[in-house]
Amino acid sequence: MKQIFTTIFLCVVFCPLFAQKTYIWCGNLIDGISNSSKKEMTIVVEKNSILRIESGFATPEKNDKLIDLKTKTVTPGWIDMHVHIESEQNPNRYLNEFTQNSSDIAFQSTNYAEASLNIGFTSVRDLGGSGVNISLRNAINKGIIKGPRIFTAGKSIASTGGHADPTNGYRKDLMGDPGPNEGVVNSPEDGKKAVRQRYKDGSDLIKITATGGVLSVAKNGSNPQFTEEEIKAIVETANDYNMKVAAHAHGAEGMKRAIRAGVHSIEHGSLMDDETIELFKKYKTWYVPTLTAGQSVADSAKKKGFFPEIVAVKAIAIGPQLKTTFEKAYKAGVKIAFGTDGGVYKHGLNWREFIYMTESGMPAMDAIKAATINAAELLGMKEQLGSIEVGKLADIVAMDGDPLQDAQVFGKVVFVMKDGIVYKNQK
Ligand SMILES: [Zn+2]
Repeated sequence: MKQIFTTIFLCVVFCPLFAQKTYIWCGNLIDGISNSSKKEMTIVVEKNSILRIESGFATPEKNDKLIDLKTKTVTPGWIDMHVHIESEQNPNRYLNEFTQNSSDIAFQSTNYAEASLNIGFTSVRDLGGSGVNISLRNAINKGIIKGPRIFTAGKSIASTGGHADPTNGYRKDLMGDPGPNEGVVNSPEDGKKAVRQRYKDGSDLIKITATGGVLSVAKNGSNPQFTEEEIKAIVETANDYNMKVAAHAHGAEGMKRAIRAGVHSIEHGSLMDDETIELFKKYKTWYVPTLTAGQSVADSAKKKGFFPEIVAVKAIAIGPQLKTTFEKAYKAGVKIAFGTDGGVYKHGLNWREFIYMTESGMPAMDAIKAATINAAELLGMKEQLGSIEVGKLADIVAMDGDPLQDAQVFGKVVFVMKDGIVYKNQK
C-alpha cells in the first residue's frame, strides 16, 4: 500500500517535469515582433504554450514529438479581426433571413469556422451575427468542433433603419420596432441597455454600425447613424464590462464621431479624409481595413441579380475606395490591424487580404504584424497571442515558401497548430 502511495506521490511531483514536449524545427521563423526572419530555429511547445525558443535544430528528448518544418516559413497563428462566421454572401442572403432557423445557421457556420482555421487563422473576431456566433465560440472552446478561437460581438448594434437594424427592407407588418435587445438603439439610455444585454448574452465585445453600410437594404451607405452622445454612452458602458467597441464606418463624419467617442477600432474606413486620419492618430484608434470586402462586393455587384439594385449601387461606389484609403492611412502612420470581413466573400479566402495589403504599399512583414501582434493588442490579448515568444499560447502556422518574397505564399499554409494542438500538417 505504502509503495502505491509513494508511486502516486512521485508521479504527481515529478511527472510535469517529464511532460511530453513538441519540438518544431523552423527553416525560416517570423516571430511577429522582430523586423526580420530568423533561419534554423526550434520552438519547444509544452501543453498549450511555448516553453522555449532555441537557435538551430534542437534534438528532442526521448518521448518528445518532432515536427519538421525545416523547409517552411513559420509565423504566429493569424488573427482576422473582422469576420462574420455565421454566414456567407450569396444571392439568396436576403431570402435566407426568412427561411433559415438558428440550427441551419449553426450547422453551416461549423464549415466556415473549420475553413478559416485550415488556412491559418487561429483566432478571429466575429463582428456581428444572430447570436449563433456565441454558441459556436463555446462549442469550439469545448472541443466539440474544429475552428479558430472566436472573440464575438454577438449581435451588432445599430439605430433604427441603420446598417445593422435586423428588419431593414422588410414589409411593414414584418418590420416591427426592434429595440436594444435586438440591437437597435435611439438614445444613450438605449445604448447602455444594448451593451448590458450583450454582456448578458455572452458577447466578448461590442460592434456598432456608426454609418450606413453597403449590404443593408437601405439607400445611404455612408451617412452618420449615431449621435456622438449615443456612441459615448455605449463606449463608457462597454468599458465597465471590459468590452472593446468596434465601429463599422464608411463616411468621414460618422468615423469622427466614433473616434472622438472613444471606440477602439474603425472598420472599413472607406471615405476617410485627412482630418479623420489626424483623429485616428490623436486618439490612437485602430484601423481595420477589410480590403477583401471592398474588392469582393465591387466584383459581385457586376454580376446581374447578385445584389438588390439599392445594394449594388453602393457596392460599386464604396468598394473600390478602400485600397486608396488604406494606402493613405498606412503612409500617415495610422495603427492597422488585419481584418477582411470574411463572410462578405467565401470563408477560407481571408489570406487574400495579405495580397491586397502588399499591393497597396504595405511591406509583407508589416502585414504579418497587422495579422498577429497588432491584432492581439486590439483584442486585449497581447500577453497570450500574436507572437512566437516564451509563455504565449502555441498558435503557430507554416507556409511553403517565403511570404516576404512572394505574397501568394500566404495562400500556401501547410501547418496549423492552435493551443498546442496540430490541426493541419501537410508535407
Ligand atoms: Zn462586417
